[in-house]
Amino acid sequence: MLTVVIPAYNEEQVLDKTVQVLSELLASESIPYELLFVDDGSKDHTWERIVNAHQKNENVRGIHFSRNFGKEAAIFAGLSEARGDCVAVMDCDLQHPPGTLVEMYRMWVDGVEVVEGVKRTRGKESSMHRAATGIFYRIMSKAVKIDMSRASDFKLLDRKAVESLLEMPEKNAFFRAMSSWIGFVHGQVEFDVKEREAGESKWSTRMLITYAISNIVGFSTAPMQFVTGAGIVVFLIAIILGIQTIVRYCTGHAVEGFTTVILLILLIGSLIMISLGIIGYYIARIYEETKGRPRYIISRKV
Ligand code: UDP
Ligand code: MG
Repeated sequence: MLTVVIPAYNEEQVLDKTVQVLSELLASESIPYELLFVDDGSKDHTWERIVNAHQKNENVRGIHFSRNFGKEAAIFAGLSEARGDCVAVMDCDLQHPPGTLVEMYRMWVDGVEVVEGVKRTRGKESSMHRAATGIFYRIMSKAVKIDMSRASDFKLLDRKAVESLLEMPEKNAFFRAMSSWIGFVHGQVEFDVKEREAGESKWSTRMLITYAISNIVGFSTAPMQFVTGAGIVVFLIAIILGIQTIVRYCTGHAVEGFTTVILLILLIGSLIMISLGIIGYYIARIYEETKGRPRYIISRKV
């Protein structure tokens, strides 16, 4: 059986259509399925729609979070509740073409254990957004050692892969990168990102920036190495300046002027503060993980 995990946050406008399109398609392809909606604490009537869909079609199941925990949490809740032999993750807004889902399922039948949907085109985006995601994915690709520039959350995983993802204890998970990191037999399917069926994107620019920083910190210690690197550079400059100062002192010309002193204090001071901030971010992360709070809280199920 195929479980399709669908995170939904304020998606009342498209939910009915998603259920209809997916159930008709999977039934016509005679793929045994369940649609598992994870309502990420929606404030609209998404949950009523899910319950409604469940009453009409018992292949539809739903989980309701007690509040908004974010898409990553929703994906992991879906993975742990899924009953299928393979589990696909898909957006609720039909931006991930359902036809590709069938293609992924066929690949799984042929023995691929992790089928990744890769974006052929990124759909409509502003140039600012494109530049920012470019930088983000370059850092992430380095951290995971796999090209992630076209990665998406649209994936289909074998039971084994799902279990190994669920075994990872970290609370701040990044599904897209972790599903590459676990290994297994990988396959890729290209797809075109479609326009959103209805409603609007749930991500504000601020959310995206926080999300990017949190994922970089979760996957890479490169920012900490930046601290080391900056320290080394400043140390080299210090040696050169130090020698120059001593030579000048010995030859009777003391280094003159406050300008140098002020510049040095400003430069080193800001470097130290930035470094402390970066280290603080990692400490905050350790603190959060040691608290051991659950990734999400489920308040209702159907
Ligand atoms: N989503 C979610 N929780 C959130 C934000 C988004 O579960 O806090 C879901 C949303 O319902 C959708 C998917 O994540 O199914 C992708 O969101 P969206 O379409 O808004 O993002 P975009 O396609 O613009 O990247
Ligand atoms: Mg979308």
